[in-house]
Amino acid sequence: MVWLLPRPLLALLFLATGGVLGHLAGASIGLPEAGAMLGATLCAGSAVALDAWRAARLMTWLRGGQELDAPRDSGFWGELGYRLERALRSREQALAAENRRLDEFLSAIEASPNGVLLLDAMDQIVWCSVVAADHLGLDAKRDLYQPITNLVRSPAFVAYLQEGIWREPITLVAPGGRGSLQVVLRQYGDGQKLVISQDVTERLRAEAMRRDFVANVSHEIRTPLTVLAGFVETMVNLPLTEVERARVLKLMQQQTDRMQVLVSDLLTLAQLEGSPRPPADRWVGVASLLHRVLGDARTLSAGRHQIELTEPPDLELAGLEAELLSAVANLVQNAVRYTPAGGLIQIAWHGKLDGGGEVEVRDNGIGIARDHLPRLSERFYRVDGSRSRDTGGTGLGLSIVKHVMQRHGGALEIDSEPGVGSRFRLLLPAGRIRSRSDISAPGHDVAGSAA
Ligand code: ADP
Repeated sequence: MVWLLPRPLLALLFLATGGVLGHLAGASIGLPEAGAMLGATLCAGSAVALDAWRAARLMTWLRGGQELDAPRDSGFWGELGYRLERALRSREQALAAENRRLDEFLSAIEASPNGVLLLDAMDQIVWCSVVAADHLGLDAKRDLYQPITNLVRSPAFVAYLQEGIWREPITLVAPGGRGSLQVVLRQYGDGQKLVISQDVTERLRAEAMRRDFVANVSHEIRTPLTVLAGFVETMVNLPLTEVERARVLKLMQQQTDRMQVLVSDLLTLAQLEGSPRPPADRWVGVASLLHRVLGDARTLSAGRHQIELTEPPDLELAGLEAELLSAVANLVQNAVRYTPAGGLIQIAWHGKLDGGGEVEVRDNGIGIARDHLPRLSERFYRVDGSRSRDTGGTGLGLSIVKHVMQRHGGALEIDSEPGVGSRFRLLLPAGRIRSRSDISAPGHDVAGSAA
């Protein structure tokens, strides 16, 4: 209260000064008392008016937005204005810091690959991240304060929300059938709820693929095993002539060969998936690669087809020779297997304007209907299962080719027409192709080129 003391003292001083001055002035006209009264009243009145003006200035500042500084005054009103301004400014700073922290926190939630949505006790949307809005088909701004059940109408979600105990997440079909979502709810605060959504489309697809793969492998192995078991039983239980025995043994050998090819293809696939990308500094000669494939194809065809190779240019490919060889060989073997006797198979290298290139394997065999083309490189996908198996196919060949190409930064392209023939192309990027004439610097690693 000490700060109040100068004000009554000042009031007294004004009164006294006014009184004295009034008294002196009044004495000159013979009215000293009246002069003293008038002087004291005038002095006190002007002091009150000045005080009121200062208070009004401060009040105007307070009522306004306080963007400008508080009125600079001396004395009581100056002190009050200064202190009010300081308190306001520090409150504003604390609020700005809080808002910054909240923004950072919300940005961190927005950065999450999962969707986050907050519901109040009435299940109305209080806040919704962009990802959650996308997952649940909401508008993060427009749908605020709407009951979620008006917007996400999936019966499974509504039932889950009303359950009240959310131990396990539920899986929903995303709005518009755009894949699958996993949603989990947690309660917090006073009946508020946190909803977390996750896009599990890829995960569920990978799980389904793994299940299919195991089922397919089991089926592919069980078939020859059943046949083998039947033959073994026949040999054990029935007296066979020498000719019958030889026939049964030949059939048994065919089945074991089939299993061996299958296991070998499976191992190749596993190796392709598990090993690092092929190096970009090991070089394989295109010509030697294609000539080797040509030789193997002629052996497989045993003269039933006309197989031609357009002499390739003097180029090298960066990558793993074994993988590149297996990719081209798979295509040429398929051409032999799916082209009737007397057909024509052509192998060629084509350079591209952008420096890239492609190995083309073309045949005039049975061809493939357009519907099958996108699925041909799926594991175990066959257009005609019995034909594939009869010719020693595993259904894994094109899957291996596609993997090899992806690992070399390339791609597999297929064009085909039933009854006309097929064209398979292995596309390779410019970065993995070089001409031998380019190799001028000594010390270049051309180890693979002679293979
Ligand atoms: P498969 O071991 O069955 O040949 P692939 O993955 O190599 O397995 O090929 C998948 C399917 O694509 C084959 O079953 C066959 O139906 C079809 N196919 C592949 N190459 C050719 C071709 N050159 N001509 C016709 N059909 C082909």
